[in-house]
Amino acid sequence: MADIIDGKAFAENLRAEIAAHTKALMEETGIQPGLATILVGEDPASHVYVRNKNRQTKAVGMVSFHHELPAQTSQDELLALVKQLNQDKAVNGILVQLPLPEHIDPMTVINAIDPDKDVDGFHIYNVGKLAIGEPGLVSCTPLGCLMLLKDYLGDLKGKHAVIVGRSNIVGKPMAALLLQQHCTVTIAHSRTQDLAGVCRMADILVAAVGRPEMIKGDWIKPGAVVIDVGINRIQVDGKAKLVGDVDFAAAAQNAAAITPVPGGVGPMTIACLLYNTYQATCMQQGMDQKMMRL
Ligand code: NDP
Repeated sequence: MADIIDGKAFAENLRAEIAAHTKALMEETGIQPGLATILVGEDPASHVYVRNKNRQTKAVGMVSFHHELPAQTSQDELLALVKQLNQDKAVNGILVQLPLPEHIDPMTVINAIDPDKDVDGFHIYNVGKLAIGEPGLVSCTPLGCLMLLKDYLGDLKGKHAVIVGRSNIVGKPMAALLLQQHCTVTIAHSRTQDLAGVCRMADILVAAVGRPEMIKGDWIKPGAVVIDVGINRIQVDGKAKLVGDVDFAAAAQNAAAITPVPGGVGPMTIACLLYNTYQATCMQQGMDQKMMRL
């Protein structure tokens, strides 16, 4: 039976570490990191996510600036707010909650954020830095997966990592991060042939597909480490249940270790957002020596 990688406990410890660093930074320099969130429209799930982000920002001792705009806000109005936050010295990180209403182009808005304040790591400049292996702000969910993997495995060098999913926010940055760690990386997607066979080659399997329990137990190589990014809401006996992209019970028979859903990768995403906000604050002040190391 596989070890369970407890992302909830890891994220709690990481937040405690960020809180300690934030306190020390404030005592030494008087600078209190600030994170601005922008939410456009009424999407209920987005409201829950942003509320959690704001609550956890305050809990680690940072300042939270929240901007809520109506669904009919124009792209120009949103860009004007981003510009204002770019110039605001009290704001060290800016997060625009996705998805945006259809009349707004998300990439235009994201690329208007000052790359030094792009704590989601979605700006094309930070994506490019990651691609060429330069340090910068990295997308929160894959960063959280990397932290869990390094904590469990230590050195990742030479491992064969298979990532199922090639989205810009999870699959591709995950591949770049694992390549930087000297893994041999395979990216699989909806057109991959013999997906089961490809998955069976993985020492590290990262599932970021968005299809409930699609990855079967016998697709897991004995001794592999499985990171399940998927969050899928399904109905079981008339009750709502959260499951990942991996058939957890079956995969746990073969894997050395596996992240559960919920309680695995999910809690790492906000913790890494706060980690990025702290790192961004230090970088903006030219205090690289105060940054937290992975
Ligand atoms: P996307 O929908 O953007 O991407 C899904 C990827 O899966 C695509 O690359 C797609 O391939 C691939 N895919 C779809 N069907 C198949 C299939 N049958 N076989 C192989 N590959 C397939 O999703 P995201 O990357 O945004 O999210 C993935 C999952 O992770 C979702 O469940 C999401 O809820 C969850 N998530 C969790 C987060 C967290 O905090 N834990 C944060 C972000 C996401 P193709 O490109 O060919 O279409």
